[in-house]
Amino acid sequence: MDQKVIGNDIEKVVVTEEQLKAKVKELASRLEVDYRDRDLLMVGVLKGAIMAMADLSRALQRHVEMDWMAVSSYGSGTKSSGVVRILKDLDRDITGREVLIVEDIVDSGLTLSWLKANLESRGAKSVEVLAILRKPEAAKVDVKVKYIGFEIPTDFVVGYGLDFNEKYRNLPFVGVLAKHIYS
Ligand code: 5GP
Repeated sequence: MDQKVIGNDIEKVVVTEEQLKAKVKELASRLEVDYRDRDLLMVGVLKGAIMAMADLSRALQRHVEMDWMAVSSYGSGTKSSGVVRILKDLDRDITGREVLIVEDIVDSGLTLSWLKANLESRGAKSVEVLAILRKPEAAKVDVKVKYIGFEIPTDFVVGYGLDFNEKYRNLPFVGVLAKHIYS
């Protein structure tokens, strides 16, 4: 399907493709400096982080390893509760590794808070977090996100990995879904 057709379901673009490209480049440069002479294992949280992982890793001019986790957050309706179940665990042991969790979006921050503590408890040398998007709610939870792409409003967004009923992940920008799609 033509991406313009999918794009018609979007009410408002929040982050453009150009902004995402520039930000990924900027974040990759920061990582190259911060992780110089250090190990780097990027852990992508499925499925939302696929685009960020693919773009960031290709922007990095250094060795990087990638692993993946899938988690599901128990909650009522659309709010996450912070109680997390691992659906797919890492393939390898991370003892002594320098881990960078790559997330699509931090909303309440509860999932991330649990994930960070979980990876730290496995004996990683360091665990930092990179999130492409952050909503204002996240400020309430005490979880340090060292690398942030964009601060966005609370609206439900899709694109660049983020879905609505598994669709819209392939949009190259981030946008607010038009109301007629879910009403
Ligand atoms: P948290 O535990 O921070 O509330 O939940 C974060 C997760 O909720 C994200 O990884 C993402 O899967 C989902 N999420 C939060 N906000 C949005 C949004 O605006 N759009 C989409 N598609 N998913 C969201």
